[in-house]
Amino acid sequence: MKKKINTLYILLSVSAILLTLIATTCVYYSFLRKEVLDNLKNYAHLLKTPIVEEAYDSDIIHTAKEDRIRITVIQKDGEVLFDNEVNIEEMDNHSERPEVQEALQSGEGVTVRRSDTLDKSTFYYAFAVDNDKILRVSKETGSIWSILGQAFPFIALIAGILIISSILFSGLLTSSIVKPIETLANNLDHVETVSTYKELMPFLNTIQRQHDDILKSAKIRQEFTANVSHELKTPLTSISGYSELIENGMASSGDVQRFAGEIHKNAQRLLTLINDILRLSELDDSEKDTMLSFETVDLYNIAENCVNMLTLNAEKHQVRMTMEGASCQVHGNRQMLEELIYNLCDNAIRYNNPGGTVWVSVRESDDLQVELMVKDTGIGIPEEHQTRIFERFYRVDKSRSKSTGGTGLGLAIVKHIVSQHQAEMKLESEIGVGTTIIIRFPGI
Ligand code: ADP
Repeated sequence: MKKKINTLYILLSVSAILLTLIATTCVYYSFLRKEVLDNLKNYAHLLKTPIVEEAYDSDIIHTAKEDRIRITVIQKDGEVLFDNEVNIEEMDNHSERPEVQEALQSGEGVTVRRSDTLDKSTFYYAFAVDNDKILRVSKETGSIWSILGQAFPFIALIAGILIISSILFSGLLTSSIVKPIETLANNLDHVETVSTYKELMPFLNTIQRQHDDILKSAKIRQEFTANVSHELKTPLTSISGYSELIENGMASSGDVQRFAGEIHKNAQRLLTLINDILRLSELDDSEKDTMLSFETVDLYNIAENCVNMLTLNAEKHQVRMTMEGASCQVHGNRQMLEELIYNLCDNAIRYNNPGGTVWVSVRESDDLQVELMVKDTGIGIPEEHQTRIFERFYRVDKSRSKSTGGTGLGLAIVKHIVSQHQAEMKLESEIGVGTTIIIRFPGI
């Protein structure tokens, strides 16, 4: 990029220098031309009286010769009457000369003729001194090319100096433009400390945001991997421990059954964990495709099925489950919505107290949204944990979660599904009173 900017700058300045020089020469030549013609006109008017009086020997006519001004007097029919440089006998009829024709028509005429060798131009000014005589004065000067030729060494010198300084200046300018960008490239971790152009700020902010996002998601992934390994390790260690005891014959026949039970429980736990982990990674992957499998579903119907499915489980925990509301349609994925309601109801049962209640309701809200509510009379969630329980593997009471078969992933899955359905979730909870989770789906 640096090379490109530099080359562009040099090209731009060299063309600007050359154009300026050419334009200056042209302007200079046009001034010169005007000056010469004005001079000729003045001379011609001074010569008027001697010419009318045919005093060809007067002083002014001699002075004109010294000034290298040629004077020609031409009769109306083109015949040359006088010339101060050439013998008139050798001169042809001048009626066809453009300046003479012009003077005959409008009183005065001007022509500039270039000599064959191109290095000289002759300026002619003709005017009618009286009814039958035309006075023509002319002067030879260098042509634009010869002026250019004469000035060439100076022009080349000036152009050379300008071009060299512009090359040096371009280099400096390019470095000063590119430097902040280079500094930036080397300090992407701390873009806020780099001073640069304000035009780059939106770009920098986006980079900073993306950079932060990348770091954040890398950290989350790292934490998740560490958590997964840790979570898998615990049941596997138990399985390995108990099976080793049986293998070494260190378990009595009564223990064997108990140990087998522990092995089964931990294997079951591993399965649940792996299922939840797989489900989360599936949800992560399918973020874009899920919209394809969306359909119109009855949320009340899904919730009712879940309640029926969990009633037995609730009874085991001595918890009563009730279902309220009416049929409501939402645009969503049936399997995901089943999972969402299942996870919420499962939590409401597991973190409940014996004799407690779980209310599930699906209804249309006043603003035509569909509202799902899962409310329990359980242990509640302390306020400082309420924003964190949706994080993967975050648990308020780890032992209670584990003893009831929790993985710490249920609400993370819920949060994912809510966001994929463009729904909003609200949590209200009070220790010892209970927890209410309300999810609002856009109506259709
Ligand atoms: P888990 O498998 O541990 O239940 P979740 O992701 O479903 O994981 O929930 C995270 C944590 O939030 C739980 O460990 C529990 O401490 C808390 N929690 C979830 N739902 C409730 C609830 N209805 N009442 C009380 N605490 C809850």
